[in-house]
Amino acid sequence: MNIPSLHTYFLQSSGVSTDTRKIFKDCIFFALKGDNFNGNLFAQEALDKGAMKVIVDEKAFHKNTGETILAENVLLTLQQLAKFHKEFLDLPIISLTGSNGKTTTKELINAVLSQKFKTVATQGNLNNHIGVPLTLLTMNKETEIGIVEMGANHLGEIKMLSEIAQPDYGYITNFGKAHLEGFGSLEGVVQGKTELYQFLKKHSKKIFVNANDPQQLDNSEGIDRITFGNGQSDFNIQLLDSSHHLLVRFEGTTIQSNLVGAYNFANLAAAVAMGAFFKVSPEEIKKGIEGYVPSNNRSQLIKKGTNTILMDAYNANPTSMLAALENFKQTKGNNKIMFLGDMLELGKEAETEHQNIVDFLIENSFGNVFLVGSNFFKTVTKDSHIMKFETFDDLIQTLESNSPKNATILIKASRGMALERVLDLL
Ligand code: ATP
Ligand code: MG
Repeated sequence: MNIPSLHTYFLQSSGVSTDTRKIFKDCIFFALKGDNFNGNLFAQEALDKGAMKVIVDEKAFHKNTGETILAENVLLTLQQLAKFHKEFLDLPIISLTGSNGKTTTKELINAVLSQKFKTVATQGNLNNHIGVPLTLLTMNKETEIGIVEMGANHLGEIKMLSEIAQPDYGYITNFGKAHLEGFGSLEGVVQGKTELYQFLKKHSKKIFVNANDPQQLDNSEGIDRITFGNGQSDFNIQLLDSSHHLLVRFEGTTIQSNLVGAYNFANLAAAVAMGAFFKVSPEEIKKGIEGYVPSNNRSQLIKKGTNTILMDAYNANPTSMLAALENFKQTKGNNKIMFLGDMLELGKEAETEHQNIVDFLIENSFGNVFLVGSNFFKTVTKDSHIMKFETFDDLIQTLESNSPKNATILIKASRGMALERVLDLL
């Protein structure tokens, strides 16, 4: 399929869909294939529901009616169309990747930049080889800045996503022990994430760098960079208080965020710096940040009965788990309780990384700990403050007879553990 002609159809269409349950009139349906589905099978249904064109890659589903377009590979076509569209729009794109905090930072950047510009940002967590092209294809001539989250669990992925999105600015939130299964090691993570830096360097574009993170400074030398952080940098943002909701100051304006956890400072500071770089006024930056309330069990502060809960059950990996525990150690409260669930996708590192967390808890002893999941269950501890449960059901039984009162509670685990369910038991 010739991409410029497909793009002409795209401009006449109402947008792109890859799911026949979400077909809208005059859209273009891309019949993608997954492990468990073949979009080609739904091509006719998409047309029946009002799609203007369908893109298929199996001859059997191609009809010579003009509405079906036969491509070599539907996914590749979607990606090439997205790249073409970005070049056609010629708008600045900010791409961000990193091990932790991408979505939070993306939401904060969007909250700030949308005070002054028409922005389009990644919806939710649509940050992969399909989500990135779909994000680009929701931008139009009115869009002034695009903000694109890029996720990766193996080498080469960020390079590939950068080739599609052609970012003009980049930011890496951090290098952490996430997706070790695919990256092999922390070195692998650094190599994988810095593919974004390599792309931007090659194209003489700019990056934003957290000056408080030595690893980011080291890995971005020689690239045209804009620094920010608490202390000496291009944009100096002060952290005034991190005991509850983070309080920061920028150019004489005090900003009260709705985020908890010292580790969110970098996420906040990145958004403030990008706002300032794009000439959003400090008052507008304040309005954007203060208007952002996290959802989805990401760094939320919840009051329930007599308990105060730090809900961070959206996700976890060794780096974000330790960051959350360090933060919780500093949090005020007499009766501290932690519900920690397994960290998934760690491959052969799983045993060591879970034991590391348990060793940290033993050394730092700052409350009672409920560990949940088969990985934590295998760790070794004789500490009477630490209780282990192989399954969530085992935990339920204990909590039913002994539910915490007047406690400050941290809940954190990988997504697959759905540990937010603890809230129902409190
Ligand atoms: P995903 O890989 O699922 O896309 P993400 O990188 O988009 O994750 P977020 O969804 O923003 O990350 O945050 C997930 C969790 O990571 C948060 O709830 C928080 O516990 C932790 N986190 C956020 N920012 C940081 C940070 N800068 N350093 C360490 N941990 C962080
Ligand atoms: Mg995300």
